[in-house]
Amino acid sequence: MSSDRIEVGREDPHDRTRRALGRHGVERLGASRVLVVGAGAIGSEAAKNLAQLGVGRLDLVDFDSVSPTNLNRCAFFTPLQAAAGTPKSVALAEGLARFAPDVGTRPHACRIEEAPDDVWEADLVLVAVDDNAARYHVNARLLGSGRAVPLVDAAMGRTLCQVQALLPPETACLACLWSKEYHERLMSELARESCDEFFLRAVESFPALPVVSSIAGALAAAAVLPFLAGDSGGFAARPGRAIRFDLATGTAFEGEVLKNPECVEILCRRGRQSP
Ligand SMILES: [Zn+2]
Repeated sequence: MSSDRIEVGREDPHDRTRRALGRHGVERLGASRVLVVGAGAIGSEAAKNLAQLGVGRLDLVDFDSVSPTNLNRCAFFTPLQAAAGTPKSVALAEGLARFAPDVGTRPHACRIEEAPDDVWEADLVLVAVDDNAARYHVNARLLGSGRAVPLVDAAMGRTLCQVQALLPPETACLACLWSKEYHERLMSELARESCDEFFLRAVESFPALPVVSSIAGALAAAAVLPFLAGDSGGFAARPGRAIRFDLATGTAFEGEVLKNPECVEILCRRGRQSP
């Protein structure tokens, strides 16, 4: 290999990305703005990938603070931040700035319901929370916005990762899989959460390993590419579809998220009826 060839792109942090996604793809990512809801394990991993991919602007929303129990899976959080109770959104923004200083990152230490209105001007919303009440709010807000905004939703269990790439109301929405009974239970839990801080602390304590959240975050960031980078080099997630990967069995599933004509979200049902 000639020395000339080795020198090509050496000074450009996006050189390898450009070789994968093309100049146009890199430019489109640089002009894009993504709202990341949840700055915990999956949100951190997804935001890390989006910053490395050169997404121009990231709004990071999380009401919670760094705690010692986050340190097993959130690479950007430090014991000092846990001791100080630094907001997760701030800790993540500081971590991203160390390797991607050109990304316009704005932390918002609040619930998504309380975030500034301009976060909804994003080109895509990535949801990485363990809170279906927040999902319900994001879903309703996007459906009510009058424009189709891509929505990437990531979740994890003990060994399972799941990412949905949606474009409601053109595709299924986040609530299309919810039964009426589940929706009613969620709404009653939402009322309980708003007046019971102890309940909020209790629901966080589930098993969580970094090997699972890393994959979920990467799958979520990959699902962003078809929406924001155009010809993305064939990354799997496509609008209206979901991908699941189970580390227990090493198996993956990819398939359509079916639209539900009886969706609990009235804005989804209404969107279906429009021509
Ligand atoms: Zn729906």
